[in-house]
This record gives sequence, C-alpha cells and structure tokens, in this order.
Amino acid sequence: MTLSSRELFRQAQECIPGGVNSPVRACLSVGAEPLFVDSAKGGRIFSVDGNAYADFVQSWGPMLLGHAHPRVFAALHAAVDRGTSFGAPCPDEVRLARLLVKALPAMDMVRMVNSGTEAAMSALRLARACTGRSAFLKFEGCYHGHADPFLAAAGSGVASLSLPGTPGVPPTTVADTLLCPYNDLKKAEKLFEERGEGMAAVIVEPLAGNMGLVLPLPGFLEGLRELCSRNGVLLIFDEVITGFRVAYGGAQTRFGINPDLTVLGKIIGGGLPIGAYGGKAEYMRRIAPSGDVYQAGTLSGNPLAMAAGAATLETLKDCDYHALEQRVEKFCLRLEKLFADKNIPVRINRCASMFSVFFTPGPVRNFVEVGAADAGRYARFFRHMRDRGVFLAPSAFETAMTSFAHSDGDFDAFEAAARSFGG
Ligand SMILES: *Cc1c(COP(=O)(O)O)cnc(C)c1O
Repeated sequence: MTLSSRELFRQAQECIPGGVNSPVRACLSVGAEPLFVDSAKGGRIFSVDGNAYADFVQSWGPMLLGHAHPRVFAALHAAVDRGTSFGAPCPDEVRLARLLVKALPAMDMVRMVNSGTEAAMSALRLARACTGRSAFLKFEGCYHGHADPFLAAAGSGVASLSLPGTPGVPPTTVADTLLCPYNDLKKAEKLFEERGEGMAAVIVEPLAGNMGLVLPLPGFLEGLRELCSRNGVLLIFDEVITGFRVAYGGAQTRFGINPDLTVLGKIIGGGLPIGAYGGKAEYMRRIAPSGDVYQAGTLSGNPLAMAAGAATLETLKDCDYHALEQRVEKFCLRLEKLFADKNIPVRINRCASMFSVFFTPGPVRNFVEVGAADAGRYARFFRHMRDRGVFLAPSAFETAMTSFAHSDGDFDAFEAAARSFGG
C-alpha cells in the first residue's frame, strides 16, 4: 500500500530538514502541506493520494515539452542501458554542446556542470579571473542559485553596504556584491560611476522569473550592455529559466543582445540535474585544462543528463513557440477579464510560455512592486486552485510555467477553478 502525502510528509520531517530538499516545496508561505508526486505525464501530475492536477509548475521550468515526453524518454532509456556515469567523455556531451553553441548567438564554447547554482558560481569566477576585479552587480529579486556571493540582501538601501541574506555567509563574502533595483538603469549608471573600475561583472536574468515574472523595460538590457562594454565589465545573462523557453535561442535571441557569458540549466537537461555556462571563446579558453581557471565535476556531462538534454533540444527545435505564446496570451486575457468581473485587482505579467498573477493593481516592474502584491490572497488562491485539481507554484513570487504538452483541458481547468475563487 502506498503512503499518503500526509504520512510521507510526517516521516520526511523526521529525516529531512523541513521535510523537503528545496525550501519552497514545503508550501509554508501558502499555508499548505506538500503533495508527494507519484508520476507525471504531459501537462499533468498525479499525487500518491490518487489525485490528478493540471501542472503549472513544470518542475519550476525544465519541462517545456511536458512530463515524460516519448522522444526524451526513449533517449533516456537507451542511455540507461549503456551506463549511468563513466568519468570519461561520452558522445552526447559533444552533441549537447554543439546544440547549445548553435542555438545561442553569444555562445562559442560551453562547459557542463550539474546545477544552475554551480553554473552561475563558475561564470562569476571566470569573469573575476578575466577582468582581475572582484566586485559584481546583481539586481534585487533576481536569483542566481545559492552560491554565497549571490546571497546578499540590500542593507539600508545603500548598495555598497551589502549584507548577507542568510546566516552562514560571512559579510566579507558579499562585500563585493553590489545591488541595484531591477529595471533601474539610472541607479546602475550611478553604481558604474562609483565602482565601475573595480567591477568584474553584471549578472542579470534578462527576464526575471524568480520574483514572479518581471519583464525588462525597453532599453534596460541595452543600457546594461553598453555600460559593461564601456567599462570593461563582463555582462552575464542568467538564462537558467529563459534559455530555450522565451525563444529557442533564449532571451539573447528574443531581445537581440549578446552577453559575454551565459548561464544555463533547467530545460537543457530535459528534467535531469544539469547546468552549463558558456560564452565568447576568448573567455572560455581560460577554463582548465585549456586555461588556468579551475572548475571541475565528477558527474559533469553525465550521460543520462546529456541524452535527455540533447533529445529535448532536438525536439524543441521543431516546436511552434509562436503558437504557444499566443495560447498563453489569449488565456491571460481571459483571466484578466475573469478577475475584473470579480473586482479583484490583478496584474498579469506574461512572456512566451510563462505568466504571473500578481494580486495588485500594479504595474509590477521590480522587487518593491512585487512586494506590494497581496501574498495572503495568493495563498488562498493557491489552496483554492489545488483543491480543484490545479497545481500552482506554492509562493506568490514564482512564475506559472506552461508546456507544449498542455491541453486545452489543462487551461480550462485553471479558468474554471479561478472562476469560483471568492478572493
Ligand atoms: C533555478 C535557477 C538557478 C539555480 O539553478 P539550480 O539548478 O536550482 O541550482 C539559477 N538562476 C536562475 C535564473 C534560476 O531560475
């Protein structure tokens, strides 16, 4: 007999901190307990309790083809039969690397790692090595994984006084982390004036997806590109979410901006653990063993992740991104009308296959405006939707993800459940 989610969570809390292996999954901020998943297929997940859900989390982004895609699974099954890890190069590493450098305009070479966290951390190390500088600029509300230097919160609004965002990170580790509000080019310019000479990199999510979905204002990314070029600072696009999601060639293709380095993860592993970072050859050649910047990994280029990732990208190449974008756009317009009819103020940010419902009259252009949304109402919304078979991200500050496998029925389930939401 299978255990219920409730019983599994009880057992998990005894042996795993908080009962989960990544904090948001615990559903604390939405006042719920996690569901334990038995299986997933297409746009749906199935809990151990025997319930089905239209899934708008999609493993936080990787599953753009939907769960258990036949072509990805065939590649994965074939790879398992050949072995799970060799500690020596395998053909699919070259296959995936070639797909990546072909797809991304700003990527000549790429190095595989095991998570987005590791990729962002390594890209920062490389930028620091290439420039011989230490400081870097990040934007409030952007997430670049949990490596120490990225875990800084603003201290008293003074960027040069960054404070650690968690115990365990020494103040010295984030002393070189400069913070700026997202979409605030003026503030970025000011920081460049003050600290530009000591700055190694600017790292940014070209489309922010970790404070809900926040789009770059016209000129923001262009402005950063120019500031970086003028000051000898490397521009790093963190495309862990946006890579292959907002366009096959990522946000850099969609917005026509070439970063110096790109950080990838999520989709490129087709649901297996992965990360990658790449960019211009002159920088990438600095990485060991062709260069002097050390970075390594026992399971890097893992044959299963490479096979799933390559099959995913080869399938995505022929997918109709435009059609999915139009579907999501139409759906969001229907949702806006639905909430307007109820007199519930919402602002729905959307791009391509992603959207975020913020319970605020909006607009939502940065982390402060994100914070103005009604998180209590989102928590009620989350529970209301899940009780009716729709699985949303268990936090007001995450992005809803759709996939090519979502059926009209999945969207209809969302709309029908939202219709009965009392506020
Ligand atoms: C998910 C994410 C990461 C971290 O990736 P992990 O694989 O969870 O370590 C980094 N940057 C962005 C933009 C992400 O969304």
